[in-house]
Amino acid sequence: MKTVYDRMMENDSYQKTKDFIIKQKWPYPQKKAYAEKIAWEFYQHPDVAGRCYVTVGGLDSITLFLFLRSIGINVPAVSVSSLEDKSIQLVHKALGIRSLPPIKDENGRPYTKMRVIQQYGYPVISKEAAQKISHLQNPTSKNATVRHAIMTGETGEYGGFKKNSRMKMSQKWLEKFGGPENENEGTNYQTAPFKVSDACCYYLKERPCDLYAKETKCFPYLGLMASEGGRRQKSLMWNGCNYVGKKTKRSCPFAIFSRQDLLTLALEMDAYYHAHWKEFKPITVDADTGAVTYEEPIHLGTIVPAIYGEIAECGHRSEAEIQELVEANGGIMDESFSKPLLCTTLAQRTGCSMCGFGVHMEKRPHRFDLLWERNPKEWDLWMHHIEQDASGNWYGWDRVLDYIGVEWRNPEQFFGGEKK
Ligand code: SF4
Repeated sequence: MKTVYDRMMENDSYQKTKDFIIKQKWPYPQKKAYAEKIAWEFYQHPDVAGRCYVTVGGLDSITLFLFLRSIGINVPAVSVSSLEDKSIQLVHKALGIRSLPPIKDENGRPYTKMRVIQQYGYPVISKEAAQKISHLQNPTSKNATVRHAIMTGETGEYGGFKKNSRMKMSQKWLEKFGGPENENEGTNYQTAPFKVSDACCYYLKERPCDLYAKETKCFPYLGLMASEGGRRQKSLMWNGCNYVGKKTKRSCPFAIFSRQDLLTLALEMDAYYHAHWKEFKPITVDADTGAVTYEEPIHLGTIVPAIYGEIAECGHRSEAEIQELVEANGGIMDESFSKPLLCTTLAQRTGCSMCGFGVHMEKRPHRFDLLWERNPKEWDLWMHHIEQDASGNWYGWDRVLDYIGVEWRNPEQFFGGEKK
């Protein structure tokens, strides 16, 4: 059997990663032009031949959808909008993004956010870490090698006998979640009093989009950026912005973008939208017949959903940072290097209102505080009433956040001190 190492060598992954990192340091205008080239190359690839769609969630993919339109690629956009914050749903509707129904289990019951968490566990820390914890919490003979690699970094034959591989979970999270393997590994870690899983994205986002792709025989444009880290980073670096294989075909025109590039382009796309808003019509799809109805256009104040706040200037690069970019650019200064840095004034990344991925890195008021401000009843539900433990006590994110050391109590302190 081929090892991960063999496959990396075969795929020339090291050289590809090096080339990718060079592109990530390009000036913004060059990256934008490259994104356009990538998007068209995918569209015109003989095996794709224009059979494309865009999956849209948060700001990144909203920007991608508009970017494609702005360069003349007019393809359908789909979303699992019901998962997203209300302000994101509003933007989706106005842009004519088609909302996909949730997938159903074998008894015909649709999966909901609540059901997936109850059944599989909480999406917390990161997708990569949640998947590792899920392996530890659900041991089988098949995942024994993976569990050992998560605990120790030793990958065994399949992973090329590496000793300190990145499969090892960080020590901080091993201390909290490594307990199920204590007996096997001779460790003394804690065991979490709740389940953790990365299944939420799969059941609620990826699977409905996969089914849509299968039905329509179309291939997706995705708003992924390697700079967001995690599994996406590796896959984008190794497989490139466009991937056209036998089983998988996908295009990620923003793969080399940084957050700054994305926010810069989002502002440009906001201007594009205002000049073209009448071309975007909300659509409804009849659940039985699949017939599509177009409604009158809605003129949004901005394409940036309210959950993100505004895109605002929040500082400048230091001289050293600018110098580093100039050097990477062959000694040539580009105007974009000295432009003010941008950030969103409220949420930075999330699309789902109760997602725990990355919350441990946010300062307060974090996404759960912001959810309280927008909708205290929803906050209460997710915080305290997801499931019951063996003693019949209700709990939710309260237990999870306490366990990973994220403060969540008294969110009213950030919003004028008044409990709603
Ligand atoms: S982003 Fe978070 S909450 Fe949303 S589907 Fe994925 S894991 Fe679930």
